[in-house]
Amino acid sequence: MFLSSCLSENSEGHLTIGGVDVPALAREYGTPLYIMDEDAIRSTCREYRKAMLRHYGKNFLVAFASKAFCTKYMYKILAEENMGADVVSGGELYTALKAGFPMNRVYFHGNNKTDDEIKLALSSGVGRFVADNTEELSRLNEIAAAEGCVADISFRIKPGVEAHTHEFIKTGQIDSKFGVALINDEAFDFAKTALGLKNIRLVGVHCHIGSQIFDIDPFVHAADLMIDFISRVKSELGYEIAELNLGGGFGIRYTEKDDPKQIDEIVKSFTSAVLKKVSENNIKPPFLVIEPGRSIVAPYGITVYTVGSVKHIKNIRTYVSIDGGMTDNPRYALYQSEYTAVLPERINEPATETVTIAGRCCESGDLIGKDMKIPPVKPNDLIAVLSTGAYNYSMASNYNRIPRPPVVTVSGGKSRLIVRRESYEDLIRNDI
Ligand SMILES: *Cc1c(COP(=O)(O)O)cnc(C)c1O
Repeated sequence: MFLSSCLSENSEGHLTIGGVDVPALAREYGTPLYIMDEDAIRSTCREYRKAMLRHYGKNFLVAFASKAFCTKYMYKILAEENMGADVVSGGELYTALKAGFPMNRVYFHGNNKTDDEIKLALSSGVGRFVADNTEELSRLNEIAAAEGCVADISFRIKPGVEAHTHEFIKTGQIDSKFGVALINDEAFDFAKTALGLKNIRLVGVHCHIGSQIFDIDPFVHAADLMIDFISRVKSELGYEIAELNLGGGFGIRYTEKDDPKQIDEIVKSFTSAVLKKVSENNIKPPFLVIEPGRSIVAPYGITVYTVGSVKHIKNIRTYVSIDGGMTDNPRYALYQSEYTAVLPERINEPATETVTIAGRCCESGDLIGKDMKIPPVKPNDLIAVLSTGAYNYSMASNYNRIPRPPVVTVSGGKSRLIVRRESYEDLIRNDI
């Protein structure tokens, strides 16, 4: 009945997350409010690691894609759960560093790392640079030479796999800004160049074919192509690439129509493809890295709002205005993402109304969703939008000078503030 395993209802007919009463949290911390179930996030980390161990053995790392949800407290959870982390900017790297996250388990991605970011990453002992292109590679080599060190790298390959997902979150095809292509020998030439550089050690190859993907086939197909590439480098250049990083992209449930596969089944499919392919090609099973982001946090977060006004436009639509919107969740504005909304104070009431939930920015596109099914609502009711644990807080902005909401986690029936609500003073901090 509930979209996510972390949600339920209590005897008062209220929505609960991790067993904690949502209306009570809204009263305590105010709205808009992000709430995340820490126990469910931890158990999903364990589920990924267990599945990798069961189907592939000990030679792996599950690295959380920080961009899905980046805060110091998240890095603390990840460190305790023996996870790695993928970062794509100096800011994410800095957050991990300040949280005391083990930097040797950090993968530094991005299609245009700045020199300052590269220096910060080298001096903080980042585990792996995931190089994107040859210009970046030679800059990295020069900076490493100047600092007197050798950078361990992997590099991003576009395997040419089409994944069925939204245009903007599809990244494995040839027409993508990320990485070098398998075709036209782009990737092969990159490997050759990297092997000739003194301050670069080529450790691995990486691909990430997109996000919110439900099919297993594209992952299996990508794994096959990547192993073929490793084999080709071995036979033609005499160098065995020791690490394969298959990225993330596993889909989750935003609405009841979504039907993602179980983690164990996904992991089993691509690990068995890898194992089969390496034995056919007579190479060693690589150290296998995966980078799930969304699937670790999205289902275990919700956002709670208070309704301001309800505007019926006869024969057209009903707008329900909330005290948040695109500044805390820009995903509808970006990709027309679908969400499920519920009333946490009356969770059992039937969803008889069709409404458009609108934010408070001066943009007609500032919506959480169009034609959403919810029970009748009135001003001061709470609305909870589900599956907002990924790409919400991390994508939040201060447009219209709206302060970002706080983030609260629940664990063992108790809540904890992990990110404070921004104040007006925070908003003008850097103004001169
Ligand atoms: C975004 C991203 C991920 C995570 O994708 P999800 O869909 O959140 O699992 C992993 N690796 C890289 C390089 C990414 O850019």
